[in-house]
Amino acid sequence: MLEVKNLAKSYQKDKPALTDISFKVDSGKFVAIIGPSGAGKTTILRSLNQLIKDDDGQILLDGEDIRAANKAELRKLRRQIGMIFQNYNLVERLTVIENVLHGRLGYKSTISGMIGRYTEEEKREALELLDKVGLSEFALQRCSELSGGQKQRVGIARALIQHPKVILCDEPIASLDPASAQNVMKLLKDLTVEFNIICIANLHQIGLAKEHADQIIGIRKGQMVYNDVSENLSEDA
Ligand code: ADP
Ligand code: ADP
Repeated sequence: MLEVKNLAKSYQKDKPALTDISFKVDSGKFVAIIGPSGAGKTTILRSLNQLIKDDDGQILLDGEDIRAANKAELRKLRRQIGMIFQNYNLVERLTVIENVLHGRLGYKSTISGMIGRYTEEEKREALELLDKVGLSEFALQRCSELSGGQKQRVGIARALIQHPKVILCDEPIASLDPASAQNVMKLLKDLTVEFNIICIANLHQIGLAKEHADQIIGIRKGQMVYNDVSENLSEDA
């Protein structure tokens, strides 16, 4: 379980970007964070993966405070938190399977020709994950040849190969057409259940959030204005 307690952050003195954010998420749940641009959604994700250090509050992952971790503990904790990005952050010139194996970066170097550095077991797992995201036929294709929706599905497989407890998705569908966006949202929801992980996604699209997410957190001007199961969200919220 992930528990955020009284999280606060100011980039500049007397200009809080987040104030007193508290919420809990159980494993197997898909959470959407919604709110207007500048509300603080990205700042929450950056705090959760500790890209931002100088914040305030507690972030407990299965009872362990991420913010209190020392360097070695933080490295281990980071492995438990996967990331998915709006612009995919793939290495375009490398193949699909190489990009998935990049999720193992914590253990192996990243120079090209790296595929030989991975064990058969790791390659088998990468192929299994590609199968789960519907891309097994594309394993040896370069990422530059893929559509946006396909690239995001590579990003999902890359996040999963590190066996995370949590996946953080920063605007995962903002660059996608409506059909691909639906597809990626459904995939995130299904894999969250299948792997019993926590998935937290920043979204603009309230309709898609309500349709796919279990829980919705509304952020406005750095404050949490809503936190409930998605069924309870009214259309005019
Ligand atoms: P988004 O709405 O997707 O978060 P933004 O356009 O707000 O994108 O921000 C883009 C980048 O600029 C982010 O890395 C964000 O942290 C950074 N940023 C946003 N506002 C400021 C600011 N006032 N000063 C410095 N960096 C900022
Ligand atoms: P959102 O993701 O909801 O668009 P952000 O978390 O990016 O919002 O930004 C929240 C607030 O913090 C905004 O007022 C933004 O300008 C500010 N901000 C974000 N990143 C930075 C930064 N690196 N430096 C200064 N201010 C920032």
